[in-house]
Amino acid sequence: MRASQCSIEDRIRDYAAGIGLDACGFAVAGPVSDAAVAAYDRWIESGANGCMEWAARYREVRNDPRLLLEGAQSIVMVAMNYYPAVRQRPDVPQFAMYAYGRDYHEVVRERLHRLAQFIKDECPGAECRCCVDTAPLRERYWAQQAGLGFVGRNNQLIVPGRGSHFFLGAVITTARLTPDAPCTLSCGDCMACENACPASALTGGIAADCRRCLSCLTIEHRGPLPQWVGVALGNRVYGCDECQRVCPHNSNATPCTAPEFQPSPEFLALTTERILAMDQTDFSRLFSHSAIKRTKLAGLQRNAESLAPSSISPDPSPRGRGA
Ligand code: SF4
Ligand code: SF4
Repeated sequence: MRASQCSIEDRIRDYAAGIGLDACGFAVAGPVSDAAVAAYDRWIESGANGCMEWAARYREVRNDPRLLLEGAQSIVMVAMNYYPAVRQRPDVPQFAMYAYGRDYHEVVRERLHRLAQFIKDECPGAECRCCVDTAPLRERYWAQQAGLGFVGRNNQLIVPGRGSHFFLGAVITTARLTPDAPCTLSCGDCMACENACPASALTGGIAADCRRCLSCLTIEHRGPLPQWVGVALGNRVYGCDECQRVCPHNSNATPCTAPEFQPSPEFLALTTERILAMDQTDFSRLFSHSAIKRTKLAGLQRNAESLAPSSISPDPSPRGRGA
């Protein structure tokens, strides 16, 4: 078929694939469903957003992405695989896999800007706004609406057949694009992530409890960690992959090929002693283009100090320690 005979949606999809975006779908820009708003409100009102105070702000915008771009008609959702081809040795402090390479904000944003320019070229007069985890946009909700996958019990977007190791990004646009069918799959009876969570953060029935989630605590929390965390932490020094590791949808995860997400030899060689000996210059050199800068040097060293020598093991620590 000649390019001119392809639909605009197929041309955008092809372009997205050509710049290394692994999935692309379309949704109508409009209000978030009442059920999704109510679920989010329950999560905030229960206090489960914990130290992520920003999650309670801009609720009106979060519930209607048209407030992010005047005249918005469509949301183009994309997903980019980050599952690493090379993993850390299990006997060194573990970083969540999404943080192995370059900061996804930089990598995905650069691709989104190219995609937005393509949309503008194809749809003269269209305006676009790119979002990658920085605007108050419910990316996982919109990814499901755009047919990319479904939101699992572990709060990750699960791409059928490919798993959950994906970064999400959005181009909100005034171009009117034909939407895809929302994904209607679900976790069914599976409880693997809830049962495996070392901090019992998935048991409340209202998404993850950030007051307990090791990912939130090791990255977002400032100040000393609650005492119980040291036991639950095992050898995780930044983030936690446990609820993705046990997910059956990740059994067929394919390593990503994006060079930006490949870990450096220096990163792979990090030990607890090396982290504790870092100064700010060293930290900035290693992590200024990494998501790890989020926790700052003080946070990373606090986490490293919390690793019990006896817990250096690939296995998760016991569950359910009281806060
Ligand atoms: S990231 Fe870790 S601590 Fe947080 S919900 Fe998942 S398994 Fe639990
Ligand atoms: S482990 Fe099971 S319950 Fe959890 S997200 Fe995966 S499929 Fe859903």
